[in-house]
Amino acid sequence: MRIVRSPAAMQRLALDWKRSGRRVGFVPTMGYLHDGHLSLVRHARGRVGDGGVVVVSIYVNPTQFAPTEDLSRYPRDWARDTRLCREEGVDVVFAPTDASMYAGRDAGRYSTHVVEEQLSRGMEGASRPTHFRGVTTVVAKLFNLVLPDLAVFGAKDWQQAAVIRRMATDLNFPVKVVVAPTRREPDGLAMSSRNAYLSPSERAQAVVLSRVLAQARAAVRSARRPLGAAVLRARLASLVSKQPDARVDYIEFFDPETLAPTARVGRGAHLALAVFVGKTRLIDNGRL
Ligand code: AMP
Repeated sequence: MRIVRSPAAMQRLALDWKRSGRRVGFVPTMGYLHDGHLSLVRHARGRVGDGGVVVVSIYVNPTQFAPTEDLSRYPRDWARDTRLCREEGVDVVFAPTDASMYAGRDAGRYSTHVVEEQLSRGMEGASRPTHFRGVTTVVAKLFNLVLPDLAVFGAKDWQQAAVIRRMATDLNFPVKVVVAPTRREPDGLAMSSRNAYLSPSERAQAVVLSRVLAQARAAVRSARRPLGAAVLRARLASLVSKQPDARVDYIEFFDPETLAPTARVGRGAHLALAVFVGKTRLIDNGRL
């Protein structure tokens, strides 16, 4: 397994692969890898085959964090991450530095961003107004450096995957955006690097996110007609409020393709939620 630090070296390598006709599968991550990330790696490997190349990027992208967010304490474990990638048969780990990705940013000499203006507005975009601009900008840069044929994203971040797919279509990136299912802990909690922030008591309470999904699914499936979003939201929020340290940021019902909010919630609608458990903000989503 090769570790590449420099964007220029990554792009040279990718151009060599292109010239020799090798298919490239790409999994962008912020590191602190868990089985959710590794399932994306396995997806990428399955799609590019043995003659193909799988690249994992490990980069905690500063531009997708607001100044008040957890950039400086975001968990990192380089030794473990590279060991897991090696064990998973990753060909290249691309781990650039901030200075190489955003040269001159602090001095006001970095000024190009990629902005998706529709799907990124609600939910995560409403709660974290500068987040998706950072995500689309860094993913566009990474696509230009890794030149992947396909890139795998997790359903865990449903809106993010939709925004990136739209960006790839709108900007004509020759990349197939693939979405792989959410991996969960045995009790239902979606795997996330941020779960490491949770105290034992918070970890126990965090299972409420997947319980909300299960309860919404049960309600929708047992109802004879679609349910009113406001009523269902209130019922689900009261489930969250039973946890002493949990606070709802949002609970939204929407069309899984267009992300348009739905006032009547029936089978096939999608639910996404963000909940603070203590100081940690967790998200989850699923089809009802
Ligand atoms: P992150 O390192 O959190 O930026 O995530 C990198 C990629 O892994 C994104 O495409 C995420 O959607 C995906 N991912 C994160 N958690 C999970 C999970 N539990 N199951 C599947 N994919 C995930």
